[in-house]
Amino acid sequence: MSQQWRRNTLLVHAGTPALGDIEPTALPIFPSTSYRSRSAQMLDQLMGGEIEGFSYARHANPNVEALVDAMKQLERAETGIATASGMAAIDAAMYATHVEPGDTILVSQDVYGASLNLLGTVWGEMGVKVVIEDFTDLTHFRQLLEVHKPRTVLLETLSNPLLKVLDIPQIVSLVHGVGAQLIVDNTFTTPLTMRPLEWGADLVVHSATKYLGGHGDAMGGIVLGRDEYHNRLHQYLKLRGAVLGPFEAWLIHRGLRTLGVRFERQCHNAAKLARILQESQIFSRVFYPLFADHPTHAVAERLLPADLGGAVVTLDLGGGKEDVFRFLDHLQLVASATTVGDIYTLCLYPLIASHRNQTPEERAKMGITDSMVRISVGLEDPEDIALDLIQAASAVRISDSLVIQKD
Ligand SMILES: *Cc1c(COP(=O)(O)O)cnc(C)c1O
Repeated sequence: MSQQWRRNTLLVHAGTPALGDIEPTALPIFPSTSYRSRSAQMLDQLMGGEIEGFSYARHANPNVEALVDAMKQLERAETGIATASGMAAIDAAMYATHVEPGDTILVSQDVYGASLNLLGTVWGEMGVKVVIEDFTDLTHFRQLLEVHKPRTVLLETLSNPLLKVLDIPQIVSLVHGVGAQLIVDNTFTTPLTMRPLEWGADLVVHSATKYLGGHGDAMGGIVLGRDEYHNRLHQYLKLRGAVLGPFEAWLIHRGLRTLGVRFERQCHNAAKLARILQESQIFSRVFYPLFADHPTHAVAERLLPADLGGAVVTLDLGGGKEDVFRFLDHLQLVASATTVGDIYTLCLYPLIASHRNQTPEERAKMGITDSMVRISVGLEDPEDIALDLIQAASAVRISDSLVIQKD
């Protein structure tokens, strides 16, 4: 498929390899772990990487290739791999940038909690220094680069749960100015709203478990970048073996076909939900990236399309852990579950899930309170989602006032 097609056309069509004489509209699933070769010479060339093809499933699989091919076109990447999960994708990207013992990795404090833990434990124990900092102030960021001289920098396009947007084009030039490499986790924005490689980022990673798959039924990860990363990314997969299974690749690829309509509607629903909840005044704070009172609103307006401000809304309920537990237990429509990006609306409590391994001080420094919940907005009618959140919050308030009355 040629690169000249527009984004929604690519979503629907990209990554459909021709299989000889037959050309099915839906790619069959190839569970085969190995492939017969027509000749010994062909197998020899295949194993030597002289010709493209399939020999063993840890090296290549048609369903995985189709998915990676589609993602390469969407993110304008020259090479890419699919991994067993988003975590494996981040690990692979770090490996691809040649991070070695003695090196420093500079990480935005707002990245996914497990990413911080991966770097701090697995990479930290290998002798890599991990510096976790706030990247919103670019003068401070420049100082961090000069002081720490990192090999690699990691950040996310839309942070979680506070939905901060960093000035990625500026950050790219600062990072390259000190000879470092930038990995951008594009999970929350998808290639529909941000394509960091076009801004010069070195590698892009996705948890395909989220919006790309979109239906809460497949785990996977994607890493994309320029050709210079090709060998190391593929070596990582072959040797560490964190490959994506063919069925998962097929599900995620099928999810990709409808990403355009899903993500657009989910963003619209999120914006509408955020407005209703803001007006209801039942939450002490409503975070949405394009709201004028959001701390990084000016950057978000510049980097995000006006009608695609992301599909996540973060709410501060006020009160403490017991109040949030009661709120979660009162939800009827919204699922209290730990993921984002599904077609269903989901509510996550960072204190007990994504940020449970951070200390109260670390959470406070990040701006995450004990009464914040993150809403991943699905495809339901936003009015119904709002009703459910408001009734659950009201139930907490009512029981609070009953307690006060009893006293
Ligand atoms: C979920 C997530 C990950 C990890 O992905 P898994 O597929 O759960 O391994 C990484 N980054 C972000 C931003 C995520 O939301």
